[in-house]
Amino acid sequence: MILIGSNEFTRIKDSLPPGVNLLAVSKGHSHESIRKIFGYGQLDFGESRLQEAISKKIDLHDLKQLRWHFVGRLQKNKVRGVIREFDYIHSVDSLSLIERISRISQEENKTPKIFLQVKLKDDPNKGGFIKQDLMSNWSNITSLKNINLMGLMTIPPITLNPQQTNDLFFECRNFANHLGLKDCSMGMSNDYQEAVQAGSTWIRLGFLLFGNRQS
Ligand SMILES: *Cc1c(COP(=O)(O)O)cnc(C)c1O
Repeated sequence: MILIGSNEFTRIKDSLPPGVNLLAVSKGHSHESIRKIFGYGQLDFGESRLQEAISKKIDLHDLKQLRWHFVGRLQKNKVRGVIREFDYIHSVDSLSLIERISRISQEENKTPKIFLQVKLKDDPNKGGFIKQDLMSNWSNITSLKNINLMGLMTIPPITLNPQQTNDLFFECRNFANHLGLKDCSMGMSNDYQEAVQAGSTWIRLGFLLFGNRQS
């Protein structure tokens, strides 16, 4: 497991077009590693488990500038904790979940930044809205209180070839445009350049920055 050096980090950052944000996905990595990447100027970090994030935030409490993004499968009983601890949620994958987030956000007096996870191809391993469901519930979703709707998030099924992955990124971008949403959270270590080409505004990099995961 090798953490990226500052020159290589800067090279990746500088290769991104204006308007493309970098999320450093730190799940499975130590708070020391996060602190090092913060030292390169990185402020946005992604985690997929609430408890793991809470313990890292305690170790990093002196870094008040950090912005935390939840990227994992969000269980109903974790919604309140995630709303308290995170600024962004990239993985909102059902109508009942976003309704619950809206209700609890009002109680907590928060307005989280939300990405709706979409499933553009069948994938038994992933959750997500299918297009039709998102369209038919659109007026309902956009009228929910205490939700700052940023855009769409997608993860291509691992079975796709590079061309199909590309097509899926473009499809996500087009769908976001159709809905009037600015942001697309798409692209990970292995495919972020293709995602950027297709119009991603948030790439989510894990092992490319942190090396291989320890847990
Ligand atoms: C782990 C994770 C990433 C980072 O993936 P890498 O392949 O390590 O870059 C990005 N997005 C989500 C939702 C993840 O869970």
